[in-house]
Amino acid sequence: MLSTMQDVPLTVGRILVHGSTHHGRSTVATWNGDSAEHRSYAEVGARAAQLAHALRDELGVTGDQRVATLMWNNTEHLEIYLAVPGMAAVLHTLNLRLPTHQLAFVINHAADHVLLVDDTVLPLLAPALPLLRPTLRHIVVVGEGDRSALADFTGAVHGYEELIADRPTEFPWATEIDERTAAALCYTSGTTGDPKGVAYSHRSIYLHCLQINAGESFGLGTSDRVLPVVPMFHVNAWGIPHAAFMSGANLLMPDRFLQPEPIARMIAAERPTFSLAVPTIWTGLLDELDRGSYDTSSLTRVVIGGSACPPALMRAFKERHRIELIHAWGMTETSPLGSVAHPPAGLTSEEEQAYRITQGRFPASVEARLSGPSGDLLPHDGRSAGELEVRGPWIAGAYFGGAHPGGADAHPERPDDKFTPDGWLRTGDVGTISPDGYLTLTDRAKDVIKSGGEWISSQELENHLVDHPDVAEAAVVAVPDDKWGERPLATVVLRDGASVDFTALRAFLAERVASWQLPERWSLIPAVPKTSVGKFDKKLIRAQYADGELE
Ligand code: ADP
Repeated sequence: MLSTMQDVPLTVGRILVHGSTHHGRSTVATWNGDSAEHRSYAEVGARAAQLAHALRDELGVTGDQRVATLMWNNTEHLEIYLAVPGMAAVLHTLNLRLPTHQLAFVINHAADHVLLVDDTVLPLLAPALPLLRPTLRHIVVVGEGDRSALADFTGAVHGYEELIADRPTEFPWATEIDERTAAALCYTSGTTGDPKGVAYSHRSIYLHCLQINAGESFGLGTSDRVLPVVPMFHVNAWGIPHAAFMSGANLLMPDRFLQPEPIARMIAAERPTFSLAVPTIWTGLLDELDRGSYDTSSLTRVVIGGSACPPALMRAFKERHRIELIHAWGMTETSPLGSVAHPPAGLTSEEEQAYRITQGRFPASVEARLSGPSGDLLPHDGRSAGELEVRGPWIAGAYFGGAHPGGADAHPERPDDKFTPDGWLRTGDVGTISPDGYLTLTDRAKDVIKSGGEWISSQELENHLVDHPDVAEAAVVAVPDDKWGERPLATVVLRDGASVDFTALRAFLAERVASWQLPERWSLIPAVPKTSVGKFDKKLIRAQYADGELE
């Protein structure tokens, strides 16, 4: 028998209407380096309506056309985040750290019709312009800065404030559309090959927001002041802008001030309660907080994801700054909320720590399984390591096939190496799952070091190395070896003034891992090269430092 319940579509338009009315007094603020200007969610909703009118009436955005952003985390970006899916078009957030050819590739692949861009990043856009197809008709500049970089653009250029000025502050939001249609498009960062597009649906975003706001995930509410340091172009700032608008949590946007010192000042001035970032940013911030005297007492919880959070970093923040780092796992294809490491209740703080350093537990909507080397499913016994596969209502089932130059969209793509025949996403991550459901990742399949038939976890070696007081950062990669196939090469960044040598570091590691896992090759490097979203760029490290010094 069918249920007797109403069938109401779950849409971003609904989040927009709810946030701007019921949470109309919550605010978003953008940091300008010294202070922040706050704007209420009611005003954000009104300005989103003005933008939607401008996009539809002046720039001709219709149907599911793509509207792209090349922007920092700021208030206008939030307005666009709401207006574009709210009017049933598709928001495409562009990664402003992509190399020019990839930036042009994704704009063309998505057939973006309009591009909204911060004036401060125009120099990044300019070199891509000659590579763009004529599908891009309009560029809208946010901010009053110099626009001369757009001189060669053949379409129309507009200013954001002029474009939205004097338009109606209400819009007939598309709250009743098919919830399965695309609302937002994000491309993977393309570390291996061309970036791939994931098209989130209204339904997937809505359900993902509910999960983010749930107590077992981030538990956001109106008393929170959320500082997303993770960029809005990196998997929609992990879903935070839409989730905050749904729950009424206030937003503090760092704009382009992402270096440790301005972030520390912003924390002291704007008093966030909750933040999110990749570990590398928080490693830099730790040094700044240790050196300076900032009042960070408001900030109690920070979600760390995107790559493994070193346990030493967690301990340091907890002991020295009373900030709990909450480890979470996800990827572009998972919206990204996959798992969150909250320990079970009733444990001692030492027992809790053992859970906090895992990648965490999956919510009910995300099913997970492990696939062994021969394709067999492995038990969740905390020991059997295999590739993680996931399934759920906010997990991608295919990639966006792209737009033909003439207009129509291509069919979605389901490459065999990314999706199983029964439709699960192959994550490319290797790890174990405990009987009580905690995921522990040991590596990415492509980063694991295959030495003489055994696997060495680069991540485990890195975690131990950064536990050494003289080590600021460490990245371990596989290098070819005649005898063993592959062996680990440890690249190390020392803290200022430290002088520890490789013999001592190897001895330090020898107390913590089996002797056959100890790296023989070492390199001292000035900084670990990072990808466009701040992760260790292991491909580049392999290419640059493959020789190393033998120990
Ligand atoms: P890209 O794949 O281009 O780097 P994503 O941001 O989608 O872009 O990266 C997802 C990957 O990041 C995951 O597959 C995993 O390898 C890694 N990752 C994310 N969170 C964690 C975590 N907490 N611990 C270890 N690895 C993580």
